[in-house]
Amino acid sequence: MEDVLIVGAGPVGLMLACELSLAGARPIVLEKRTEPSELPRANGLGGQIVDLLDHRGLLERFSAGSPFAGRAPGFPFGGVPMRFDGLDDIALRLLLIQQPRLERLLAERARELGVDIRRGCEVLSLSQDEEGVTLGVSGEGIVRARYVVGCDGPRSLVRERAGIAFPGTTDEEGLMIGHFKADMKVFESLEGDGLEPGWTAGRTAVCCSPRSTTACSSPAYASGAGPPTGP
Ligand SMILES: Cc1cc2nc3c(=O)[nH]c(=O)nc-3n(C[C@H](O)[C@H](O)[C@H](O)COP(=O)(O)OP(=O)(O)OC[C@H]3O[C@@H](n4cnc5c(N)ncnc54)[C@H](O)[C@@H]3O)c2cc1C
Repeated sequence: MEDVLIVGAGPVGLMLACELSLAGARPIVLEKRTEPSELPRANGLGGQIVDLLDHRGLLERFSAGSPFAGRAPGFPFGGVPMRFDGLDDIALRLLLIQQPRLERLLAERARELGVDIRRGCEVLSLSQDEEGVTLGVSGEGIVRARYVVGCDGPRSLVRERAGIAFPGTTDEEGLMIGHFKADMKVFESLEGDGLEPGWTAGRTAVCCSPRSTTACSSPAYASGAGPPTGP
């Protein structure tokens, strides 16, 4: 019987694997993707996860090459843009890092700690009894463990099979995302139309890093006052 199985090698599953290893457990991560995802999703981390990376001595390594790492100049609180100018002690720290890179670094760290990350392993079934949990896993067959943690994203099979409800609501609105490279001069020429690096008002948000740019078009930014301009 295995100790702990973590389903999903996204940022949450990988970070948890690192933390459990440091606590003396022997987690195995099961991930259905054969390769890490290169999809541009999150562009950065903010808040206590940055403090945790620092606490674990990882912040310098994770910040390498980041276009911004430090105290936040501002942050959206819900839809309200807040500026922290003039405050002496800004507790909120940000680290701009694109999700594929974050996942690569977390996987690297997890392997250093001895975590067994098994790719191409999709969890297809789950049942539990007094002693533990039984999983049906593609490529592995039946696997038993004392504990299973569902880090398998928004449509979590683990959550569903464990009978954990999702009583909240979800936004059915579609989001179009594009990933492209552009000269920063492009944005200077578009500023008159309200488009600039960082975040814009209107229906489009643009996030920039030295190597790539992500543009999202979503009604979520239609308030006319988007999140504050990025650093
Ligand atoms: C377009 C977009 C933009 C975003 N921008 C931001 C942002 O700017 N900032 C921010 O903080 N967040 C952002 N997010 C959200 C962020 O990407 C998620 O919060 C984050 O990925 C959640 O991590 P996770 O590890 O919980 O889940 P996921 O990243 O979804 O990882 C779950 C993993 O589980 C695996 N899996 C699923 N089912 C199974 C199964 N049955 N068996 C085995 N493996 C399985 C999946 O393949 C996946 O690798 C964005 C998301 C999207 C879609």
